Amino acid sequence: MAYTLPELPYAVDALEPYYDKETVALHHDKHHAGYVKGLNNAIEKLSEARKAGDFSLVKHWERELAFHGAGHILHTIFWENMRAGQDDNKPTGALLAGIEKNFGSFDAFVKQFKAATTAIEGSGWGSLVQVADGSLHIVTVENHQKLALPESTILVLCDVWEHAYYLKYQNKRAEWVDNFMHLINWDEISNRFSA
Ligand code: MN
Repeated sequence: MAYTLPELPYAVDALEPYYDKETVALHHDKHHAGYVKGLNNAIEKLSEARKAGDFSLVKHWERELAFHGAGHILHTIFWENMRAGQDDNKPTGALLAGIEKNFGSFDAFVKQFKAATTAIEGSGWGSLVQVADGSLHIVTVENHQKLALPESTILVLCDVWEHAYYLKYQNKRAEWVDNFMHLINWDEISNRFSA
């Protein structure tokens, strides 16, 4: 069963002006599509290896599976964790209380999230996650597949691979992260948060 590229959950220009439609189209139609293709290819090659009983390239294809599979999963969450931008964008209710409890204040959370995400070396993602004991942490993901805390639920997810922002923001990653904060779909994230 092959994976398919999910449709964007909104129009391609829905995130303007914070996230321009040209970048959204390229990011979704080319980059995310590329991960879906790479994932399906890795699955196919592993199937062929099982049939042939030849696992000489298993390390390579397992790496491809992890990289493209994680890329596909993270991009799917990324699209769903954004919505049309709001000037004053913040969570409410139990999620806000949880953030305040774990980070001291919503403002402190925002500052740490922006600093951690902007500081990622090379390609990766900034993320707010909830671990099994209920606590919230900001973690950074290297590439797609190196997620720091196992068995955590991803709540907020910001792509800082250059392909995610370079067309509009060039080298100004911090400006992209600033603008991403306006796009966070706190209602959707509340559904994944366990109070
Ligand atoms: Mn991306």
